[in-house]
Amino acid sequence: MAAPALEDLIQLLARLPGLGPRSARRVALHLLKQRETSMQRLAAALAKAAREVRRCSACGNLDGQEPCWICADPERDGSLICVVEEVDDLWALERSGLFKGRYHVLGGTLSALDGLGPEELGIDRLLGRLERERIAEVILATSATVDGQTTAHYIAERLAASSPVISRLAHGVPIGGELNYLDDGTLGAALKARRPIQRGPVEPA
Ligand SMILES: [Zn+2]
Repeated sequence: MAAPALEDLIQLLARLPGLGPRSARRVALHLLKQRETSMQRLAAALAKAAREVRRCSACGNLDGQEPCWICADPERDGSLICVVEEVDDLWALERSGLFKGRYHVLGGTLSALDGLGPEELGIDRLLGRLERERIAEVILATSATVDGQTTAHYIAERLAASSPVISRLAHGVPIGGELNYLDDGTLGAALKARRPIQRGPVEPA
């Protein structure tokens, strides 16, 4: 069998999302072959990230500074808060370059199974921000899954008294998306969220 150090490495790699025991062995071999160029640099990057990257106490984003670069940026529109499930949702919105407000990262969805309640998701922290900051709109951008929708409902109810506008991301057909490639959920949501583009001669009853 392999040396204990190698077994440990493979077992740890196999626990990473998207990797199983087979791909973990492949990654371990690749790293050992590229000891200087990959393995030692990766080890240094892991240690540095573990030491320096922290959750922003205001929004839950991950960054090396506190508050995070988005909360600290005076150019961002502080009257808009976009509520997302995970930091990679925030990254996706940032890549689009379309959103110039700030965020609240939940770190998951409400789930009795995973022991995630309102406290873990920082809902009170979000309510506190609504009291302290001048916020005009909260955009709920949780995913279109059952858990995502349930969480959005819960947050909307909790915020009802303190937020002027609560909006929800529209879900639908992606630009350039062909209908026959869409899953039923996306197609159903797109159909439900349809908007009239022209009124017909006969008004719908
Ligand atoms: Zn932040």
